[in-house]
Amino acid sequence: MASGICVFAENYKGKLEPVAAELITAAHLIQETTGEKISAIVVARECDGIAEELNQLGVDEIYAVKTAEDCLLQDDAVSEVVAEMLRRIAPSSVLVPATPTGRSIFSRVGMKLGCGMTADCTELLVGTREDGSYFIKQNKPSYGENVFVTIITREGFAPQMMTVRPGVYGAQEPVADAHATLTYMEDIQMPESKVEVLEVLPAENETDSILGAEVVVVGGRGALEEGNFELLQKFAQKVGAAIGGTRPMVDSEMIPFNHQIGQTGLTIRPKVCISFGVSGAIQHTEGIKDTKLYIAVNTDENAAIFNTTDYGMVADMKDILENFLAE
Ligand code: FAD
Repeated sequence: MASGICVFAENYKGKLEPVAAELITAAHLIQETTGEKISAIVVARECDGIAEELNQLGVDEIYAVKTAEDCLLQDDAVSEVVAEMLRRIAPSSVLVPATPTGRSIFSRVGMKLGCGMTADCTELLVGTREDGSYFIKQNKPSYGENVFVTIITREGFAPQMMTVRPGVYGAQEPVADAHATLTYMEDIQMPESKVEVLEVLPAENETDSILGAEVVVVGGRGALEEGNFELLQKFAQKVGAAIGGTRPMVDSEMIPFNHQIGQTGLTIRPKVCISFGVSGAIQHTEGIKDTKLYIAVNTDENAAIFNTTDYGMVADMKDILENFLAE
């Protein structure tokens, strides 16, 4: 019978990608209920360093396939390797980063294993069947990001496979009693890929700068009033902050979708978040709930945002920003 929570250890140049550490946090949360072992699979040219990082994060078992080159962009060939690894490990669930790499490899793996895949989850919960067995409730936005759905993999289709958005879970901290076993699956060979990687260029979008920013300034519909967004941009530049926004800011094309904060956008964990002209809808504040210090400026003293923030200013954002910038 399928058992165990398996995490795909996405890696780059011999290092574990930070999102893999987030998925290990999710795996530990599932483990608290199901009691299953946590495994991780690594496909890389240099596996040892990645395996040690995984060990420190408290996984129980590591399965690795060494390849001639770093190859995760060769999704046709890597998906063959991963599918064979999963056939042998037979986990009940597989957690995959919802990154371009994770998506392109595991949509193929889903086809090969005939198990399907839920893309882009923002929350994983454990449910219990009448017979006492467990399943994962895979929560995610759907229908153009307008509704939330819970997807449950049909019984008999294993493993339950899902991609999880970066930033939804905090990174797993190193554990004290690391004791993972490491198994090299030496007889699994990577087939020839039809994909040839000619050049690797840095990504153009700045999503990563928001995800890693210590200070984030968020604009809401109030920032759409004339001149307000320009003031907010100047303020952000002055305090060295990344800029995020609410859905109306995206809808009105002031910021790109990959800067939207909330349930259907990014989940951020900055040290300081300052929001201007944001009402505080739960679909938005869910994406910021783990900020260390949360400050809001809003003209409406009854705005829901003030129930979430540490400090609130009932004021026009224009006045606040103009005064600050004048100093
Ligand atoms: P509003 O709710 O219109 O609030 C604007 C606020 O600005 C008001 O409180 C007003 O008092 C204040 N204001 C106006 N002028 C000024 C001024 N000059 N100075 C100071 N304050 C001023 N939204 C997201 O942001 N992210 C999501 O991921 C997201 N996902 C969603 C998913 C679903 C399924 C659904 C149904 C909705 C989702 N939404 C999301 C939309 C969300 O419900 C809210 O509609 C949205 O967050 C509201 O944005 P806002 O606060 O900018 O605008």
